[in-house]
Amino acid sequence: MEERIITSLERSEDRENEALRPVKLADYIGQSRIKENLYVFIHAALSRGEALDHVLLYGPPGLGKTTLANIISAEMGVNIRTTSGPAIERPGDLAAILTSLEPRDVLFIDEIHRLSRTAEEILYSAMEDHCLDIVIGKGPSARSIRLSLAPFTLIGATTRAGQLTSPLRDRFGVINRLEFYTTDELKQIVLRASKILHIKLDEEGAIEIAKRSRGTPRVANRLLKRVTDFADFWGKEVIDFQVASLALDKLQVDPIGLDSLDLKVIEAIIKIFDGGPVGLETLAATVGEEPETLEDVVEPFLLQCGFLQRTPRGRTVTSLAYEHLGIKPSEGHWEKQQPRLFMENN
Ligand code: ADP
Repeated sequence: MEERIITSLERSEDRENEALRPVKLADYIGQSRIKENLYVFIHAALSRGEALDHVLLYGPPGLGKTTLANIISAEMGVNIRTTSGPAIERPGDLAAILTSLEPRDVLFIDEIHRLSRTAEEILYSAMEDHCLDIVIGKGPSARSIRLSLAPFTLIGATTRAGQLTSPLRDRFGVINRLEFYTTDELKQIVLRASKILHIKLDEEGAIEIAKRSRGTPRVANRLLKRVTDFADFWGKEVIDFQVASLALDKLQVDPIGLDSLDLKVIEAIIKIFDGGPVGLETLAATVGEEPETLEDVVEPFLLQCGFLQRTPRGRTVTSLAYEHLGIKPSEGHWEKQQPRLFMENN
């Protein structure tokens, strides 16, 4: 797969960016409803000297779930242990982590929907009763012992809340869905990043980068760096509107942040499937991507833009998508698409 500059999945260069991660709740831009609630829950738990209730964070990649998990542990003044669903190969791996936690510590499990069923079952009693049932030995001599654990906070992050089993989902006391960021919030994020990285970025330059960042902080920070490369190469000291927009054009990021894969998906639905409906698997095969990538990374933003619709019969594009691509739908297209709706309206 050709690597997308605009992908919201983590790339190796992003990991050098630890300096950009806000460490306090007050520095975390946007997601105000989540922030306000967490502030209350954290302070209530602190005043009672208890562990914070378990927190589930879900939403597309790059919106700040890992950052928020780290902030929660910092605000609680406790350690954070970080792992991920696929990294826990055996239930024993999870048991080892759980027994090493100190009171009120945070255990962060990224991609928690990919946890194996046996590991997940261990979590049930750990989350609810702070204990671990383990079986020692095999066959008739096997016996089960119960270990008690320190009260801890599990923070789970997932792009797929729908894939969590209900027993697991029900054990989270706080469930938060992260939203795409507004242009103004992303502007604040890139301005903050430019200060940390000593990049001269003016207000208009920041707005232009923000507008083209797919509502995603990770993308905004990455675009800032690539635009800086162009500015350096062109000998421009300050990134203003002109430098930012020219550089972003060179990076093939369109004015509302769509990149070549987004455009390929919309174009395929319009040109090959006459606007849809088309099933996810067929669409993925047509554009040469994994269905999961389309579902996790491409579709959420196209849905947010109002370009795409998920219907029981498959994906369809809207008139906004036709307009954005400058393609005129064929005569009678919308009547054919929604014959019943058309008849009802006439
Ligand atoms: P996720 O875990 O949802 O994939 P991350 O927490 O890794 O996303 O966020 C990606 C990057 O975006 C972080 O390194 C951080 O620099 C930046 N970021 C995310 N959310 C915010 C925010 N609310 N304010 C400022 N920067 C943010």
